[in-house]
Amino acid sequence: PNTRQGIDWGRAQAFAQAEREAFTRNNPRSAALAERAQQHLLFGVPLHWMRDWGTPFALHVDHASGAQVTDVDGHTRVDFCLGDTGAMFGHSPEPVARALAAQASRGYTTMLASEDAAVVGEQLASRFGLPFWQFAMSATDANRYIVRWIRAATGRSKLLVFNGCYHGTIEDVFVDLVDGRPVQRDSLLGQVHNLLEHTVVVEFNDLPALEAALADGDVACVLAEPVMTNIGMVLPAAGFWEQAQEVIRRHGALLVLDETHTISTGPGGYTRAHGLSPDALVLGKPVGGGVPCAVYGMSADLAERAMQAKHSAPPGHSGIGTTLTGNMLAMAAMRAALTEVMTSEAYDHMLAQAGQLARGLKEMISRYRLPWCVTQVGARVEFQFIPTPPVNGSEADRILDGELEHILHLGLLNRGVMITPFHNMMLISPCTQAADVESLLGALDQVLRQITTPS
Ligand code: PMP
Repeated sequence: PNTRQGIDWGRAQAFAQAEREAFTRNNPRSAALAERAQQHLLFGVPLHWMRDWGTPFALHVDHASGAQVTDVDGHTRVDFCLGDTGAMFGHSPEPVARALAAQASRGYTTMLASEDAAVVGEQLASRFGLPFWQFAMSATDANRYIVRWIRAATGRSKLLVFNGCYHGTIEDVFVDLVDGRPVQRDSLLGQVHNLLEHTVVVEFNDLPALEAALADGDVACVLAEPVMTNIGMVLPAAGFWEQAQEVIRRHGALLVLDETHTISTGPGGYTRAHGLSPDALVLGKPVGGGVPCAVYGMSADLAERAMQAKHSAPPGHSGIGTTLTGNMLAMAAMRAALTEVMTSEAYDHMLAQAGQLARGLKEMISRYRLPWCVTQVGARVEFQFIPTPPVNGSEADRILDGELEHILHLGLLNRGVMITPFHNMMLISPCTQAADVESLLGALDQVLRQITTPS
C-alpha cells in the first residue's frame, strides 16, 4: 500500500472523510455558531489561526475546567492542548479564580501598582534567580521588549536566533535558513522591513556556526528556547548549553532564554533545572494561570545598563510597554499562580503523568512499528514522524506533516481527546489524571488501528 510516515495513506484518507462527517453530524450547535460568527468575524473566528484545527468548522466551547473542555454540543473532552500552554496549570485554577473574584470589584487597571506588584517581583526573583523584572501582556511583547532593552543597553543591533524558532509574532525572528542561506519567512503578511539586516540565524546544536555568527561582535543577544518546542521538539545535545553560554559570553553578546513553553520542565523552568545562567528570561502564557500577561527578568548588570540607557535617552516615548501592562487584574492572577499554582507538588504530579504518557506512546509506536519517536521536556510530550529525534530546525521542519497531523487530531477530537493543533504536542496539567492519560492512549490506539495496514 501507499504509506506515508508509516501510515496507510489510502486508509488514512478514507478515515479522514468519515471523521469529518462524524464531526459535522455530532456538533450541530458549533456548526450554527460558526455560521453566525462567519457573518462578522474575519475567517469566522476571533483570531484567524483558530481555524487551524483541521475541523470542518470551528468547534465552539461552552466552558473549560481543570483538564477538561466542554463544547456547546455538550461533549466533554480531556484537554492535552491546554490553550497551547496558556492553561498548562489547568483551566481556571482555583487560587487564580479566587484572586480574580476578589479583584473583580476592586478595579482592573489604573496605571498604578497594587501590593501584588512587589510580591510578584519577589516571587519571580527567587524562582528564576534574576533580580529585576518587567511585565507585558503577552510573551510576544515580552520578547519584543527585552530585545529592545538589550539593543539599547548594549548599543549592538543584531539579534541571533536558531533556525525554526518561534517566539510569538515579534517580527525580528522570522528568518529561516534555506539551503544554508538566511531568508525572510515567505508566509509573513504585510511585513515590509528587511528582517535580514538585523537578524542572524544559525542551526540549533551547531556550536561552530554560533561561534562564527558571533565573531563580528555586533550581536546584541541570542534569543532562544532552551529546548526548541515550536517545530516539533528539538532537544539540546549534551553539553550544548554550557558551551553555548561560554561562546556567547566570550563574544560580548547576552543570552535571553524564552521559557514560555519550557516552563514545563519545573518550577524554575529549564534554566533552573539545568543550572543555566541567562542574562534575561522571558515567560508568558501560563504565568497568570491563563490570564493575559507575561514577564521578563534581567541580571543586575543588564538592569543597570538598561536603566542607564533610559536615563541617558532624551525624554519621550521609550517604545517599550502598553497601557494595560501590569494591570491589577493580571498582577493578582500572577500572584496567585506563582504562590499557589505553579508549585513543586504540582510539578511532581505533572512529571509523573507525563512520564506515563511518554512510555505509553513509545510502547504503542513500537507495537504499530511506526518510524516515529517521542520527546519530552517535563510536562510537555511530543511525538514526531522520524525514528530518532531531530537535531536541528531543518530536520524537524522536514518531518512536519500537517495533513497527517490534522487526521490524527480530528480522530482524537471525535474520541474525546484534544491535543495541540500544531504538530503533535501534549501537555499535562496538575489536574490531568492517570485515567486521562489512558483515554488519550486508548483513543490514539483506536485511530492508529484504522489507518495502519493490518498485519
Ligand atoms: N515564546 C514561545 C516559546 C512560544 O511558544 C510562544 C507562543 N507559542 C510565544 C513566545 C508567544 O506567546 P504569545 O502568542 O502568547 O505572545
